[in-house]
Amino acid sequence: MNREQFFMSIAIEEAKKAKEIGEVPIGAVLVLHDQVIAKGHNRRETSQNALAHAEIIVIDEACKRLGTWRLEDCELYVTLEPCPMCAGAVVMSRVKKVIYGARDPKAGCAGTFMNLLQDERFNHQCEVLEGVLAHECGLLLTDFFRVLRQQKKEEKLRKMRELGGIDNV
Ligand SMILES: [Zn+2]
Repeated sequence: MNREQFFMSIAIEEAKKAKEIGEVPIGAVLVLHDQVIAKGHNRRETSQNALAHAEIIVIDEACKRLGTWRLEDCELYVTLEPCPMCAGAVVMSRVKKVIYGARDPKAGCAGTFMNLLQDERFNHQCEVLEGVLAHECGLLLTDFFRVLRQQKKEEKLRKMRELGGIDNV
């Protein structure tokens, strides 16, 4: 396991914690000089807060811990490509490098949907490394949504049965 895989595996552990509490499994870790200074996972449902993405949580914690909004020597590891909000927070906190696992074709702003992290019109650009333990990171998400779809389907059938709408289901 190389250095990037090592830190990504900590982010994956965080993503699993999100899954355990019914959250979309996304985890993040902030690293400074090879030390983990913050780790966190998606808590959007738990906190009913649209801002509670894993990346925002670790950036917030790191700023508090370091006593500065400038995270210019920090690296952010995240299991899924950052969304526009999180990519914006990365630019604004001047994170040095983002290392992510799976791509997000619907909202990924580190090169897939758009590349907010490396747009030269902003005064800060960030290094990007994608695809670290991508399969494992992506599998967590696809498994989560497959189970969720199955649960919704079963719930729908249960309701239909209760209403007597369909027989022999
Ligand atoms: Zn986000």
